[in-house]
Amino acid sequence: MKEFKIESLGQPQDFWYYFQEISKIPRCSGHEEKIRAYIQKEADKFGYASKVDKIGNLLVRIKGHSMKKPIILQSHLDMVCEKIKGSTHDFSKDPLKLKIVKIDGREWVKAENTTLGADNGVGVAFQLALMKLVKEGKLEFNNCPIDLLFTVDEENSMFGAFQLEKSMIEGDYLINLDGFEDYTIIVGNAGGSPTQVEIKINFDELNDEIEHYTSLKLHISGLIGGHSALDIDKGRLNAIILMGKLLKMLNTHFHYHLELIKGGDKMNSIPRECTCIIHVIKKEVKDLHKKINDFYQSIKKENPKIERNIKIHVEELNLETSLKAIFEEEKEKLIQFLNTVINGPVKYHPVVKNLIHTSTNLSSIITKNRSIKIMFMQRSFNLKENEKIALQIKELLERLNCKFKLNFYEGYGAWAPEFNSHIVNVAKKTYKHLFQEELNVTALHATLENGIFKQHYPQLQMITYGPTGLNAHSPEERLEIRSVEKSWKFLIGLITNLSLE
Ligand SMILES: [Zn+2]
Repeated sequence: MKEFKIESLGQPQDFWYYFQEISKIPRCSGHEEKIRAYIQKEADKFGYASKVDKIGNLLVRIKGHSMKKPIILQSHLDMVCEKIKGSTHDFSKDPLKLKIVKIDGREWVKAENTTLGADNGVGVAFQLALMKLVKEGKLEFNNCPIDLLFTVDEENSMFGAFQLEKSMIEGDYLINLDGFEDYTIIVGNAGGSPTQVEIKINFDELNDEIEHYTSLKLHISGLIGGHSALDIDKGRLNAIILMGKLLKMLNTHFHYHLELIKGGDKMNSIPRECTCIIHVIKKEVKDLHKKINDFYQSIKKENPKIERNIKIHVEELNLETSLKAIFEEEKEKLIQFLNTVINGPVKYHPVVKNLIHTSTNLSSIITKNRSIKIMFMQRSFNLKENEKIALQIKELLERLNCKFKLNFYEGYGAWAPEFNSHIVNVAKKTYKHLFQEELNVTALHATLENGIFKQHYPQLQMITYGPTGLNAHSPEERLEIRSVEKSWKFLIGLITNLSLE
């Protein structure tokens, strides 16, 4: 580990200066006022006009002396604030502690115990350095105006992009700086559509039979989970679906009652945990433990490489005065549903190798009053595909004869890949000219702000790009040092070539 000294980091030094400065400024999602004020102050100092829209997005214009439309460079102001267990770091006031680490022979910048905020501090630092270098006359873009757009609250809800005022975008080309590989541009992203299902249930009371039963809490945990879009094709298990399998297995061997099922929480995550409460006939408990253990061993055997830490915990609960049990027939339907419902990658992109086109994730389940609520998130480059999946879920519930309500939300943010737009062609030529190799052009099976912009500005040509970073959103986040110089060269080259028109 080495001390963070900007002199040792290479070019452009102004980038590293600003990266360090903004690391001192608190900027968790929803608290962007300080970082926005800092950028505005810099813009004022250099003599650039700026404006802020109602929601807090900031636009700084570097004027050109021509009638050309501005080229837009865009980043988001906020960062994900995560720290390791036991850290006393206070994100509302403490500066991030930057350091340099060497991993696998490459040098990286990291923060001590916290997220680094390279997502999207690299974009912000890039824009600030550009402001300064244009002012000093060290950069010039053929009299083309450059608009620097900074959005708020990307990480939470993309609220900034959703609420962006119409007048904040005036150009035809937008470079989003939220990329994370210095050899890749992203030219499309999947949109998301949540689907909510509410299955009506009824309960029996097992009043007089209590003494025959033992109540058990079944708890599945230790799954890897991850992002419901980016990690959906990694073969990770879904805790709720796994619980469905466990309940089905138990159903073939025992007579038990189900009182409750609960699992998952975030819409964007693959569920890592799921809990059930069941009531089992006393003399069968021992056998049931054995069957659960067999099930556990077989699951571990089936998933030896990916899921190494699965746990299935069985806890005996103290019997209360009455026990609740979901109607037998409804329990059977729920088990069938969990064992049949579509989940995971649905289809691959016809053009881009290994890119998922459409996926669905069962993200949470909860038993509440007289219903079981289940949330799904569908993702696709084409929102119509999401709707098809919601329809499949609906048909399954109908086939099972469930009493249910299904709400499908049309969704947001799909940006169908544009492999041949002008900006993409200029980017490919620029990259090849600079580095004598082909630029990787791909799309992302998750939603970027670009997808939201595309809804409101269909004419906009966009790419997403940035220096190489890893483990965003976790305290392991890091930024490759060498990659900054390369990505800077590419971006300056690209803007220059675009400005020539
Ligand atoms: Zn980001």
